[in-house]
Amino acid sequence: MRADLALCGRHYQSGERIRLIVKDGRIASIEHDGAADSATADDEARSQSGVATPEELWIAPGLVDLQVNGYRGYDLNQLALTTQNVRAMVESLWETGVTGLFPTIVTNARAATEALLRTIVEARRDPAIRASIPGIHLEGPYISSEDGPRGAHDKRYVRPPDWEEFLRWQDAAEGLVRLVTLSPEWPGAPDFIRRCANSGVRVAIGHTAASSKQIEAAVDAGATLSTHLGNGAHKMLPRHPNYIWDQLANDSLHASFIADGFHLPDSVIRVILKMKLSTSFLVSDVVALGGMPPGRYKSHIGGNVVLTEAGQLYMAEDPTLLAGSVSTLLQSVCNLANKRILHFSQAWDLASTRPLRYINPGVERGLVEGEPANIVCFHRRETTVVVEHVFIEGKVMLSK
Ligand SMILES: [Zn+2]
Repeated sequence: MRADLALCGRHYQSGERIRLIVKDGRIASIEHDGAADSATADDEARSQSGVATPEELWIAPGLVDLQVNGYRGYDLNQLALTTQNVRAMVESLWETGVTGLFPTIVTNARAATEALLRTIVEARRDPAIRASIPGIHLEGPYISSEDGPRGAHDKRYVRPPDWEEFLRWQDAAEGLVRLVTLSPEWPGAPDFIRRCANSGVRVAIGHTAASSKQIEAAVDAGATLSTHLGNGAHKMLPRHPNYIWDQLANDSLHASFIADGFHLPDSVIRVILKMKLSTSFLVSDVVALGGMPPGRYKSHIGGNVVLTEAGQLYMAEDPTLLAGSVSTLLQSVCNLANKRILHFSQAWDLASTRPLRYINPGVERGLVEGEPANIVCFHRRETTVVVEHVFIEGKVMLSK
C-alpha cells in the first residue's frame, strides 16, 4: 500500500525518532525508529542530552486556538469582513502552527453578529478553510454589563441570554457555534445554559460578575469552562468570596487562560495550573493587530493603541490598560516553556490536544493512529520555534 505522506523526525513528547505515515488524511501508523535516546523537546532534557540538534525536525499535533478575534490586520468582528479576509487570516495562522481555530464573535447587534457568522460559514465552502475552522466561539453578548468584567465589549449591546436569538444565530452559522461564553449573573442564565448543553454546545463562564451561588447554578446547568480565567474581571475584588476563587475551586470547570506574559502574572498561571493541570488549556485571544509590526494604531474598539516591540498592546492614553492580546498560541507555548512554568511538550499539549479534547470529550487526540493528520513540523532555535511544515488532514498547507 502506498502512503500519501511519510514524515520523519522526533516525537514532540518522547523525543524518539519516528516515521509517521499518513493515508487518506489520517495518521495511518507511527513507526519508532530503533532504541530511543533520551532527547525530548523539553529544554532540560535537550540541554543535558546534547543529542537533538537544532537542525532536527520535531513532529507535533497542530495547535488549536479556541479564541481568535483576528490576526495580521484582519478583524473577524468588523462588519466589512469578507470571505477572503477569513481565508487570509487562517493562512497567516497556519504559519504559526495553528491547524484549528474557533473564530470568536464578540458582543454586537443581532444583525451584525448574524452577518459575521454567515461570512465565516461562507468562507468554509473552501475545504482547507473548513478543515481549519472546526467551530465558532460566541463570546457575548450575554455577559456582565459592569465595567471591568465587560472588558472591551460594547456596553450598548450587552444583554440577557435569549434562546430564540441564539437559535437564529446558530441557524445562520449552520450549527457551527460550538462554544458560548456568557455570565451566569443573568436570571435566565441556567435555563439558557441547559438548552445549550442539551444541544451539544459547550458553555463557558466569562466576563462575569456572578456570585458564588450563580456560578454554582451555572455549573449545575451544564457550564464546563472558565473563559480566559483571571481576565475580563474587576480591577479590585473582595478578598473572598469572589468569582475567581469560585471558578478555580470548582473541579467541574475547565479553564482557558492567556499566557502572553502580559495578561496574567506568572504566579496566577502557576496557581491555575496547580488547580487545573489536567483541565486547563491555552487560548491566544489574539486581535487583528497580532502579527503586525510595532507602532501606533487606531483600533475600532479601543481608539488609539500602541503595540510594543515586546508584544504588548495598550491604550495610548493609559498604558496600564491592555487593548487585547497580540501573541499567538505558539508564542504563549514558548513563553511558558522559556520561563520553565511548564515543560515544552506540556505547554504544546495545552495548546493542541487539550482544547480539542475539551470540545470533543472522550475523543483521543494528538499523534495517534486513526486521527486526522493535523500536524506541525518545526525546528527549535534558542527560545523560539520555527514552523517548517503544516499539514491539515494530511494535505500540505505550508512548507518552507
Ligand atoms: Zn474576552
